Amino acid sequence: AFYANFMLERAEGDRLLENDVRDALNSDALSLAYQPIVDARSGAIVGREALLRWNHPQRGAIPPDLFIPVIEDAGLIHQIGDWVLREACTEAATWSDEARVAVNISAAQLGGAGLAKTVFGALASSGLAPGRLELEVTESIFMGDDLSTLGSLEALRSLGVGLVLDDFGKGYSSFGYLSRARFSKIKIDQSFVRAAAAGEREGRAILDGILALARGLGMATTAEGIETEAEAEVMRELGCHQLQGYYFGRPRPAEAVAKEERRAVRR
Ligand code: C2E
Ligand code: CA
Ligand code: CA
Ligand code: CA
Repeated sequence: AFYANFMLERAEGDRLLENDVRDALNSDALSLAYQPIVDARSGAIVGREALLRWNHPQRGAIPPDLFIPVIEDAGLIHQIGDWVLREACTEAATWSDEARVAVNISAAQLGGAGLAKTVFGALASSGLAPGRLELEVTESIFMGDDLSTLGSLEALRSLGVGLVLDDFGKGYSSFGYLSRARFSKIKIDQSFVRAAAAGEREGRAILDGILALARGLGMATTAEGIETEAEAEVMRELGCHQLQGYYFGRPRPAEAVAKEERRAVRR
């Protein structure tokens, strides 16, 4: 009911929400939660994905899947996206385990020459090494007319920033996209993980194919949405490099990451 209401209100009063978003930027209602990404063999934390959280003063926590489209429609994605990049780089620079930080970039952020500049700025002001930053994009970046925006991704890649193709296998993913940009890694959507772990022969065969292709192209692989040991085991067997999901850790606020680091060191 909450989501239905939210969508209705959205239709009625996007302007109100837009104002809320503007307010959020000026208060501390926006924050990032970090979810660990572990090495499939050793279990060591090798990265963390930054996930945007909006704690609305009246509505409580609003899921990013709901408010990011509103932000995009309102033309505020550049402002929020810049904030996310700076915040993530600044926080990651304090992590003593030197894990990478993965930041989600929506297709709308790629328009214009702004992204590369923002990333350079975030790296410079935080002091984070470019090799510790990964940008996660979905294939929707290929849908626009302006393929020159891919040039800014290329500039970042040559600086050492990782480029990750997110949600691979979800929707209309085409293997053809893999050759259109130099991705360092692909993230396999949780629907494949579920299918393979449930013993579906087709799901497993497709996964096998995706992983072989990634290997052939020199790309690393992360499986997302791992919720059980059985799912982790299947992905390890298939040779996936990294695993992410509730089984290894939920997204948690920045303050919790320091404790997570101490725990990882003790283990
Ligand atoms: P995503 O990039 O595919 O992120 C993974 C989503 O899966 C996250 O949802 C995460 O909390 C969730 N997840 C992680 N492990 C598990 C698991 O084991 N099981 C299940 N069922 N789910 C799991 P979240 O945080 O709600 O984010 C949803 C989407 O919102 C993200 O999907 C991403 O597309 C978008 N998003 C989040 N933060 C940002 C941001 O800063 N910028 C942009 N442009 N998009 C963002
Ligand atoms: Ca992602
Ligand atoms: Ca994903
Ligand atoms: Ca997604």
